[in-house]
Amino acid sequence: MNGLVLAADVKAQLGEGPVWHPEEQALYWVDIDGKRLYRYDPADGSVTHQTFGIKIGAAVPCRGGGFLLAMQDGIYRLRTFGESEPKLAARPAEIHGGLRFNDGKCDPQGRFWAGTMTHGSGPSGQGTLYRIGSDLEPVPMVRGVSISNGLAWDAARRIMYFIDTPTQKVAAYDYDPETGDIANRRDVVHIAKEDGAPDGMCIDEEGKLWVAHWGGGHVIRYDPATGEKLERIAVPAALCTSCAFGGPEWDELYITTARVGRTEEQLVAEPAAGGLFRIRLSVRGVPTTLFEFEE
Ligand code: ZN
Repeated sequence: MNGLVLAADVKAQLGEGPVWHPEEQALYWVDIDGKRLYRYDPADGSVTHQTFGIKIGAAVPCRGGGFLLAMQDGIYRLRTFGESEPKLAARPAEIHGGLRFNDGKCDPQGRFWAGTMTHGSGPSGQGTLYRIGSDLEPVPMVRGVSISNGLAWDAARRIMYFIDTPTQKVAAYDYDPETGDIANRRDVVHIAKEDGAPDGMCIDEEGKLWVAHWGGGHVIRYDPATGEKLERIAVPAALCTSCAFGGPEWDELYITTARVGRTEEQLVAEPAAGGLFRIRLSVRGVPTTLFEFEE
């Protein structure tokens, strides 16, 4: 597949969590280790960022403006990107110094889902995936998670997809859009070790999953109904972390990457590692859902 471009050469330590802001026609993403929220405007190519005092795992835009942030120790609200400071909105009872928030995304009804992972060298399986509704109360939905990552919803089929990275699998749940409840977990995609570790993902309008592979240097499109590989996008950075559809037609896939832990030699071979990439596809993605506050 051709046409991959380096949209923003920011050399992030741990670029993650791309999300297209439909009202601004801009792409936001985070550098978890760099403690930054980035904004890329494709209209003029400009890149701006805001740096925080603690790590930021994910940011989702809110209806009415601002962002909800999954930060190191809790959920924060950021009123205005680049201008205000994040304010703590909720801290789950289970969180402690050995855990931090990682990936997160809004479901089709505008609830924020974000999960935790072991921070540093603690034991695995200590994380939790939370659902945060308009009341900002984190509800534990999946426990025993090691590295909470990719999330996607197929609204038509009422399915939620979830990746706990070390399992090397994409799991599916029946998803109730009214209540936000999930049930009947099953594995739908098994990722071969030689392809890398499954990290972030997104879904297209055909219900197929686009999964970024940490250590694999690619994004792979899978059919969750059969588990088979459909397409592969090679990226000139081994640590592919996540992807999201954006652009005015929702047919541009943005891919985040990392450079953390790479050797000098490896970084010479992949100078754009840590950058934000973009490729136009022949399929459209499911549009971003904004976080919905209580009226
Ligand atoms: Zn991730």
